[in-house]
Amino acid sequence: MDRVIYVDNNATTTVAPEVLDAMVPFFCERYGNASSMHAFGGTVRHDLDAAREKVAMLLGATPGEIVFTSCGTESDNTAVIGTLRANPDRRHVLTTRVEHPAIRSLCQYLAKAHYEITEVPVNRQGELDVEFLADSIRPDTALVSVMWANNETGVIFPIEQVAEIAHAAGAVFHTDAVQAVGKLPINLAESRIDLLSLSGHKFHAPKGIGALYVRRGTKLTPLLIGGHQEHGRRGGTENSASIVGLGTAAELAAERIDDENTRVKAMRDRLEQRILESTPDCFVNGARDERLPNTTNISFEYVEGEAILLRLDELGICASSGSACTSGSLEPSHVMRAMGVPFTAAHGSIRFSLSVYNTGEEIDFIAEHIPRIIQDLRAISPYGARGEESRRT
Ligand code: PLP
Repeated sequence: MDRVIYVDNNATTTVAPEVLDAMVPFFCERYGNASSMHAFGGTVRHDLDAAREKVAMLLGATPGEIVFTSCGTESDNTAVIGTLRANPDRRHVLTTRVEHPAIRSLCQYLAKAHYEITEVPVNRQGELDVEFLADSIRPDTALVSVMWANNETGVIFPIEQVAEIAHAAGAVFHTDAVQAVGKLPINLAESRIDLLSLSGHKFHAPKGIGALYVRRGTKLTPLLIGGHQEHGRRGGTENSASIVGLGTAAELAAERIDDENTRVKAMRDRLEQRILESTPDCFVNGARDERLPNTTNISFEYVEGEAILLRLDELGICASSGSACTSGSLEPSHVMRAMGVPFTAAHGSIRFSLSVYNTGEEIDFIAEHIPRIIQDLRAISPYGARGEESRRT
């Protein structure tokens, strides 16, 4: 393939060249164990401390509140399981219907282990039913876990309001901010969030590195019990190269946050507008105002998302669909189902997620090709025939 136009940045991102450069020395030159007594390993500790400071700076936290993990999933699991273990008298967890499987599947697992889970619904726009949440909180609620921004639609939840509700009932508040970090300004010093998960590969650090913010004083039992790394909060020899990479990515993210919210947002808006204007029977899934600046999720009626993805793929365009091929049938995602997106529209939903590395030229290329792709697919799809009929009536 000659060129790739990568607009699947909510799935993963390229490692920034600056991040890779910062990491390279830690593989074959400075490979010492940061916990070793010798200077060769010991100096690595300074680099880990510097990286911790950079991550803390991006979040408006203090370095002591940052625990490095292996990924967003580990951060989420640590937050949920660690809180339940630290508060054994409380067995209720309040979460949402649209969380990433790192929270949702875990909660379903916990439900089988005699915890009680309440999933708060969202409306047709993907907005959280805060009233339902407030009515569902109980004296035995240990944890409220609500994502900051949805990975499929980009819809942002009012997490400060939710944190306040959680605290009023004496519960801990965790947010999965895996999609928010690097895209939205975050200042935990002025926030009520107790626990926050992030993942490096969503903002130009490599895969396999994440962090959990733990507000000072929050009770949390470690998930990985082993050595004394991370002040006893996460056993396992530190992944020094990736931690240093995460620090550099955090530094870059802080510098680029304005670009994300101006240039990247403008490209996203242009792509969305051009598609909506040029293609009949399509609409945006999710509230459009309170949304990540890089994400648009568009449903194309009467076509299958997988078919659109294949046609985009032939052009070197990488995007995602809102349906997952499970056991031979195309099931709309749990997010589309929770929002009540009609079956045919959920099937034809495509997520474009941009990054600072995209160019206006790439966006125009996608916008030029979409109308023809949809027209071709509608002409041959059984949904297309139905679509023609329903458009006529
Ligand atoms: N939470 C959200 C909202 C995500 O989008 C993802 C990844 O797609 C995760 C958690 C899991 O992160 P990781 O892949 O680092 O385990």
